[in-house]
Amino acid sequence: MPGPGYYFIGEDEEREVLEVIRSGHLNRYGSENDPKFKKKVFTLEHEVAKKFGGKYGLAVTSGTSALIVALAALRIGPGDEVICPGYTFIASMSSVITVGAVPVLAEIDESLNLDPKDVERKITAKTKAILAVHMLGNPCALAELKAIADKHGLYLIEDTAQAFGGKYRGKYLGTIGKIGTYSFNVYKTINAGDGGLILTDDEDLFKTAFAVHDQGHMPLRTGLEVGNRSVVGQNFRMNELTGAVLLAQFRKLDPLLERLHTIKKQFKDILTAELPRLEFRKLNDEKGEIATLLTVLLPSKEDADEIATKLGTKTISHSGWHVYSNMEQILGKKQLAAGAPFRSKEFPTDVVYEKGMLPKTDAILNRAINISIGVVDGGLGSAFGVNPLSTEKEIEEAAMKFVAAASYCCK
Ligand SMILES: *Cc1c(COP(=O)(O)O)cnc(C)c1O
Repeated sequence: MPGPGYYFIGEDEEREVLEVIRSGHLNRYGSENDPKFKKKVFTLEHEVAKKFGGKYGLAVTSGTSALIVALAALRIGPGDEVICPGYTFIASMSSVITVGAVPVLAEIDESLNLDPKDVERKITAKTKAILAVHMLGNPCALAELKAIADKHGLYLIEDTAQAFGGKYRGKYLGTIGKIGTYSFNVYKTINAGDGGLILTDDEDLFKTAFAVHDQGHMPLRTGLEVGNRSVVGQNFRMNELTGAVLLAQFRKLDPLLERLHTIKKQFKDILTAELPRLEFRKLNDEKGEIATLLTVLLPSKEDADEIATKLGTKTISHSGWHVYSNMEQILGKKQLAAGAPFRSKEFPTDVVYEKGMLPKTDAILNRAINISIGVVDGGLGSAFGVNPLSTEKEIEEAAMKFVAAASYCCK
């Protein structure tokens, strides 16, 4: 079920958490001079920003709240549209809906990320942002998306929930657009059960985001700020226990990613040698992906269905959670009627969410199977594969099992 960080939870996490528990100081704010205050959340924000090359980090409660805070801080709301891929987690859409804006779905391409050509086709006078989701640990075509965003005066938001630690042309994902968001739920690169983080280089945007995440307060919230609170915010604060676990997890990021790349290479080399006709998902930056999954494209939907059945897994189309055509929360706009939560008014009539509306996305996902390298998640369709603790022999066995299932069409 979990992501790669899960397999490495141990003494380091224990030590960090114990330090916080023993101090008794569990909330994120405190005085520099107070020895009980261990500054875990603050340190996490600074360490991630420093390593990734973003100027300002803000920890929050989840990847979903990171998206809500980012959108609200950019003042995206009623009357605005945000372009999202049809293949993503529902949070990419639900966060947009929560701030009162409208997600407009665009096609993906063979990279399983946003198709820049379709993004440009979906731009209207109401479009405010492009939500670039780096799906399955693999960067979007950021150069193309950034050029489109710049040309049309749109914000580029990077939903990096599934690609924490990934890079594009040498820069960390989440630091290339206007603002980037991350998730630390159990399926993600590193985890603390739940948690999220935002990075941005824009100081004003950071201050607004901070205020949105904590009832209008200023960063650090060191004193009483009566008279200075200019934003109606929420409470999306991370606590010190979560910060402690994530600090320990974060400090293992490099060896963890190295391990994933090693496993993926071994697995992929076997498939390439044994199945010369097998197609792999296109990578927009081969070195920058985090190698949590190995995604293959079979010659046809029928082949993909047959092979998935043989392996006890599912094609991405049938995997459940991440495909727009399986998202009953938005399909037919039935749950978006006036009076639905977060929706006092009728949803705009000119947008549709219907099965079949993204034929290119459907055709690609019908042929696609996710093999687990570091994220073992039936909901992603990666029930088959290996995990970060698998031995060389287990990796070879799993790869040969795939070869046996796919030989008839890909030899
Ligand atoms: C997991 C995920 C989120 C939301 O993260 P949570 O921490 O579960 O709220 C957002 N976007 C994508 C693409 C995700 O995979």
